Amino acid sequence: MKIGVSSCLIGELCRYNGQGSNYDFLTKILKNYAQIIPYCPEAEIFGTPREAIRLVNINSEIRVMTVNTKKDLTTPLEEICTKYAKDIASKQLSGFILKSKSPSCGMERVKLYEKDSYMCEKKATGVFARAIRTESPYLPLEEEGRLEDSWLRENFVMQIFAYEHLHSFLDTNPTMADLVEFHTTYKYLIFAKSQKSYKALGRIVANQNRDTLINILSTYKEEFLKAIAQKSSIKKSYNVLLHIFGYFKNDLNSIEKKELLESFDEFKQEIVPLITPIKMLQLYTHKFDKSYLAKQKFLHPYPSELKLRSSIEIGK
Ligand code: SF4
Repeated sequence: MKIGVSSCLIGELCRYNGQGSNYDFLTKILKNYAQIIPYCPEAEIFGTPREAIRLVNINSEIRVMTVNTKKDLTTPLEEICTKYAKDIASKQLSGFILKSKSPSCGMERVKLYEKDSYMCEKKATGVFARAIRTESPYLPLEEEGRLEDSWLRENFVMQIFAYEHLHSFLDTNPTMADLVEFHTTYKYLIFAKSQKSYKALGRIVANQNRDTLINILSTYKEEFLKAIAQKSSIKKSYNVLLHIFGYFKNDLNSIEKKELLESFDEFKQEIVPLITPIKMLQLYTHKFDKSYLAKQKFLHPYPSELKLRSSIEIGK
């Protein structure tokens, strides 16, 4: 798996003042699962160190201006950002982590200044972030500031692993039977994100219109990428747990059922993290040989060593 990043997040000294930063989640954790590919559009064209830039609202148009000398750098910055964004689209990355607040890399709430004024509102998107979104509309995108939120981090990691899985699956020239098998493994993960997407994907795979395989795969891909971009919630995950519980109705005794349902309720009340009911379900899945459940990505969406479901904060 390949993940693109803003270069300064991995310690490259490419910020306007010649500094960088070290984002531990990337440099200590994610790098064990993905090849990290850095991009810094500003350093490429303006060098480092350089005069700071900012986004300015001039006649209702967002321009990139140097802070002190008031030079308009919109065109060169947009050009390099578009070039990099096209490169990113061609490299089949599985996600991108951007530096927050930057006029180039910030994904949201970047300061937008009024012309000749100190007044600003946090409401813009950086030039590079915008270019990546244009070239790769479904690429999982996050910024390091937002990823401090455990819920957003868990959803993002789930998304990049599913994104990578879908693309490597499509590279195998799958048959309709392969698609059904792939879809089956994602049923509950998708259900935990959106019932609407769950139904839409189910309809595509059912193929009642007798569409061609190439069309089905293309429609499925788009709908799947939209589905995994949505966020799960405690309520939706709880709902999935209850669905899975149904598979053990005839296997568990009354005490086991009570304990399992209690773990679901404690998860819902944010007393225990999601990993607690998941571990119990994994145990019963093996014990009662539920092969359909064993392959469900909802139960193991990414390597467990990432420990993202071990915190109560992942739920919202
Ligand atoms: S925020 Fe983006 S443009 Fe600025 S230094 Fe980091 S990578 Fe370069």
